[in-house]
Amino acid sequence: MDKENLSVVLHSPGDLRLEHRPIPEPGTNEVLLQMHSVGICGSDVHYWQHGRIGSYEVKKPMVLGHEAAGRVIKVGSGVKHLQPGDRVAIEPGVPREMDEFFKTGRYNLSPTIFFCATPPDDGNLSRYYKHSANFCYKLPDSVTFEEGALIEPLSVGIYACRRAQVTLGSTVLICGAGPIGLVSLLVAKAMGASQVVISDLIAERLAVAKELGADFPLQVKRGETPEELAKKVEQHLGSQPHATIECTGVESSIQTAIYATRPGGVLVLVGLGSEMVTIPLLSAAVREVDIRGVFRYCNTWPMAIAMLASKQVNVKPLVTHRFPLEQAMQAFETTRQGLGVKVMLKCDPNDQNP
Ligand SMILES: [Zn+2]
Repeated sequence: MDKENLSVVLHSPGDLRLEHRPIPEPGTNEVLLQMHSVGICGSDVHYWQHGRIGSYEVKKPMVLGHEAAGRVIKVGSGVKHLQPGDRVAIEPGVPREMDEFFKTGRYNLSPTIFFCATPPDDGNLSRYYKHSANFCYKLPDSVTFEEGALIEPLSVGIYACRRAQVTLGSTVLICGAGPIGLVSLLVAKAMGASQVVISDLIAERLAVAKELGADFPLQVKRGETPEELAKKVEQHLGSQPHATIECTGVESSIQTAIYATRPGGVLVLVGLGSEMVTIPLLSAAVREVDIRGVFRYCNTWPMAIAMLASKQVNVKPLVTHRFPLEQAMQAFETTRQGLGVKVMLKCDPNDQNP
């Protein structure tokens, strides 16, 4: 093991640095990982550009990255289920307390949860990183490190589809064809959705969605009203969708999502935008459209690994760019410009394979 731990550290808005940090020592129930593949998320870029998301503010230097997979190189004395050499996917959210939310299985809602690269907690865009062993999941040989890293965004799709009650035969509207809209599409199809409409402003993104199995890509033109768009969704499907997954956070798109959803259907809000938003609340209320929030995910890694191992979902086409860790700045710039879908950083200098 080398003595240096090259890491991508955000100091303040706009000030992202590659620097060496100490190699951490795993605690009793932790493992030390040699990181292999880490995806760059929109939230990483948002922290880099703005230094905050909502009430989470970067007040001291923080390592970025939370979509990650690596290899176990050292285990704490209390760790029974992992050993050095194991390849694992990392769930970035680790509850700190056995509170009410932990006990009811909704640990994502625990106010004190640790979460990689949400201030003040460090992420895992580094050569070496330690993590709770219980939140590291062994990958079967048939699942690559990059697929393991993509379990994090895939989890957002799994949890959104669960909250939206997508099931066999469902018709689904997905607003936004960025990485989260695309994973929601993959999962909705795998969960048995019969038809999926996906909307976006950008034709190139819709072309990717079509490749990934979208039945009806719907290009939104500026100036179209939410009611007009909702009508188009209904025309494509023959009736209104049972479930809508809103992944943009844009006010007009949330309005479209409400008008489009079938009476008695479910709308989940995945995209984050303004604190205050004007929505057609009466339309939702009198048609019993349930509007549900989503905060990250919980209990998704085992399902995601099973889906990847059985080839029920194919996330590999999502990776469009790869950079060695040393070129993290170019990688972040590529993500900021919205080029491609998912940018992967390759943290192991001796193994840059997928
Ligand atoms: Zn993310």
